[in-house]
Amino acid sequence: MSGVKKPRSPKGTPLDKRFWDKVDKSGGDDSCWPWTYCVDGRGYGMFSLPRGTTKMIRANRMALQLHLGRVLLPDEESCHSCDNPSCCNPRHLFIGSHDDNLKDYAEKHFAKGSRHSQAKLTHKDYLIAMRMRKEGHTQRAIADHFGIDKSYVSRLVRGLTGHTVLENLNEQ
Ligand SMILES: [Zn+2]
Repeated sequence: MSGVKKPRSPKGTPLDKRFWDKVDKSGGDDSCWPWTYCVDGRGYGMFSLPRGTTKMIRANRMALQLHLGRVLLPDEESCHSCDNPSCCNPRHLFIGSHDDNLKDYAEKHFAKGSRHSQAKLTHKDYLIAMRMRKEGHTQRAIADHFGIDKSYVSRLVRGLTGHTVLENLNEQ
C-alpha cells in the first residue's frame, strides 16, 4: 500500500508483466490497485507504450485492454467504478461511452468557446449533437438539424474527441 516506486522491469520483460509490475496489488483482489509510476495532472497513471518512449497511455486504459485482451476503440473509455483515477484493478474498471468525458470537455470547451464567434450551439444542443453523432447521424444531418454549418460540426467533433479516427468510423 506504500507509494514507493517499484524497481524498473528488466529489459525484455513482456508488456503485460512490465505493466503489472508497476501496479500495487497488495490490497488483494477486491481492493484498489494503485499505479505506482507517473500520474498525470488528474491522477491517472501513465504508462509508456512502447517502453522508454514518451508515447503514453493511461494506465487504467491499458489495464482494461490487457484484461479484455483487445485494444479499446477510440470512443470507448476505461471508466472507474471506484472513482480512484490511479486504480488499475480490472474489477473496478468498465467500458464507458464518451459521454462522461464529453460532458467534461463540453464544459471546458464552452466555457471558453461561448464568447467565440464560432459558438453557435448551447451547451445542451451540443450534447444532443454529440449524441446524434454517436448514434450514427452524419455531420450533414446534425448541421441541418441545428441549422449550422457542416464544417462547424466537423470542428466540434474533432476538437472534442481528439480522435480524427472517430470521425472516419462514424462517417460510414
Ligand atoms: Zn479501484
